[in-house]
Amino acid sequence: MALLSCATNKTGTVSMPNSIATITTIDDLRKTVCAWRSAGEKITLVPTMGALHDGHLSLVKLAGKTGDRTVVTIFVNPAQFAPHEDFDSYPREHEKDLELLAALDVDLVFMPPRVEVYKQDFSTHVTVEGLSEGLCGASRPHFFGGVATVVAKLLNQCRPDVAIFGEKDYQQLLVIRRMARDLDMNVEILGGPIIRETDGLAMSSRNAYLTSVEREKAPLLHQTISAIAKALANGKPLDPALKDGCKSLGNSGFDVDYLEVRNADTLALIEGPVHEPARVFVAAMLGKTRLIDNVAVTDAEK
Ligand code: AMP
Repeated sequence: MALLSCATNKTGTVSMPNSIATITTIDDLRKTVCAWRSAGEKITLVPTMGALHDGHLSLVKLAGKTGDRTVVTIFVNPAQFAPHEDFDSYPREHEKDLELLAALDVDLVFMPPRVEVYKQDFSTHVTVEGLSEGLCGASRPHFFGGVATVVAKLLNQCRPDVAIFGEKDYQQLLVIRRMARDLDMNVEILGGPIIRETDGLAMSSRNAYLTSVEREKAPLLHQTISAIAKALANGKPLDPALKDGCKSLGNSGFDVDYLEVRNADTLALIEGPVHEPARVFVAAMLGKTRLIDNVAVTDAEK
């Protein structure tokens, strides 16, 4: 794709000084991707809320291998935050994000303002029953409706061939895949593996909230679920494995929201003998920061 000039062009596409094309309106997004589609090019979408880290960038790199054109969206979606949550303080680092994306094979960044996504009398919401109800859906009942609604909109706006989501938010990945299937959206939903810091902490934009003491403790979350996965893979019974995990997290100052083993395809709760495909899921508050993580039982070192 030819790089665009520094000023807004006819379609409203704007090129930043680092020469990455950004766009802010649905109309301009449609015009651009329509031209690509007419040329027979395969389009891959990577939705994000910005404050990008290597986890996001891994999905963008995967997109580069999946299709001919990569569109990244940056939109902090108000619909997935409850009033008491961190919508206002969520990190917004647009300049840095664009610099990171400019170093990759990204064709377009879609950064709509809130009014472009949610008109004043917006009144339609997508609910994915079942899959949205346990795990994060139990303590954040607004969350998956907000995610499904905005992702449905982004998929309609861009009409990509493929959309990529991280396994870091495993439940979200399954919810979106089910929504796309149920609503006959002609898109393949791909999952990308969890990218971790060297000490095992899953990368997250919210890790920036951690104090230095909390940051030192944070890897215990991954260590705990990995130990549980390993114990289960070695035939240890579920109950004591989960109890030990909860205890060690509690002793280190985590306030555990859930620590569960579920079927990796259906998210059905596993309470007895563990059969593959199974995953260990955890969410916990560490101070004011909510951390989530998950690991496949087969991923564990035996
Ligand atoms: P977010 O900006 O937090 O909404 O995340 C945007 C996308 O990046 C989602 O599909 C996330 O699952 C994915 N993602 C976030 N953190 C990671 C990570 N550590 N590894 C892989 N994917 C991630």
